[in-house]
Amino acid sequence: MLIDGHGREVNYLRISVTERCNFRCQYCMPEKPFSWVPKENLLSFEELFLFVKVAIDGGVTKIRLTGGEPLLREDLDTFIKMINEYKEGLDLALTTNAFLLADAAQRLKDAGLKRLNISLDSLKADVAAKIAGKDVLSKVFEGIDKALEVGLKVKINMVPLKGINDDEILDIMAYCEARDMKVRFIEYMENAHADQALKGMHGREILAKVKEKYTIKALGREGASPSFNYRIEETGYEFGLIDPHKHDFCENCNRIRLTAEGNLIPCLYFDEAMSIAESVKKGDIQGAADVLAQVLKDKPKENRWSEEELEDREISKRAFYETGG
Ligand code: SAM
Ligand code: SF4
Repeated sequence: MLIDGHGREVNYLRISVTERCNFRCQYCMPEKPFSWVPKENLLSFEELFLFVKVAIDGGVTKIRLTGGEPLLREDLDTFIKMINEYKEGLDLALTTNAFLLADAAQRLKDAGLKRLNISLDSLKADVAAKIAGKDVLSKVFEGIDKALEVGLKVKINMVPLKGINDDEILDIMAYCEARDMKVRFIEYMENAHADQALKGMHGREILAKVKEKYTIKALGREGASPSFNYRIEETGYEFGLIDPHKHDFCENCNRIRLTAEGNLIPCLYFDEAMSIAESVKKGDIQGAADVLAQVLKDKPKENRWSEEELEDREISKRAFYETGG
């Protein structure tokens, strides 16, 4: 079992397989970064897999592949197969913007993937294009339909932004309910890479929009999930709210993050990281395990989005496209 310096069990590893992306979401990567990590610095799937094995052997039971856009990385299905075959019963999932999903869905399913989280911020083509920086919606819809058709379980992530898509919360919920997909509304997390003019909706504002039409019942957090669940009393539909600005958000944090170049990151908010690249390139299992132990020991107690006044705190410099969200 992996335990961090605050006594929390860590059993969830998120791997960002590339920081590159085919979208330019305003809250994540509005501009192409000045320079990408050079391709030669990316860890190969074999190198990443060495760390995956260390993590699983230590107690990780859940792995999510993310990015940047993970479907931009060639042969992702091979990597999924490698992980899937290593440990039966592992909870293996993927987060994608779905632009390339229609072509990939069957291969991902065949490789052993069961679950997908898909980002969908608008049902209107012009709004989706404004958020993502290009015309994306028809391909995203195609990707969602195909994923459902091949039998993948899909959850939808939406980041509500004031004056942009805040009028679509109920519509996105209805779209998801009609397709038997859970939606999770994610509070916009301020960071230095995002468009600084953006204003996210606070969790209570998101709930207020839902309450304009429905009565909701709070169900609570599902284990260590960051999502606080609610049920619509009129329909029985359940949705989630990911609210990192709330003071108790980090209490049960169970995750660490690995970037494509091998930085192991203990918290999404902070800059701190330690590299496993040298260890995995040498095939040094003990070295990788030692880095993991140190990162767990140093894992911060909580993020700083939860502090009251944004003006008084330093903005997070961590890029979501690097950590994988
Ligand atoms: N490209 C894939 C996608 O968009 O689904 C995977 C990577 S993306 C960084 C993972 C998740 O982080 C997405 O659901 C995205 O909406 C979310 N995200 C990115 N930047 C965010 C921010 N500033 N605040 C809240 N969520 C953010
Ligand atoms: Fe790309 Fe996902 Fe970031 Fe949007 S949120 S820019 S799709 S990595």
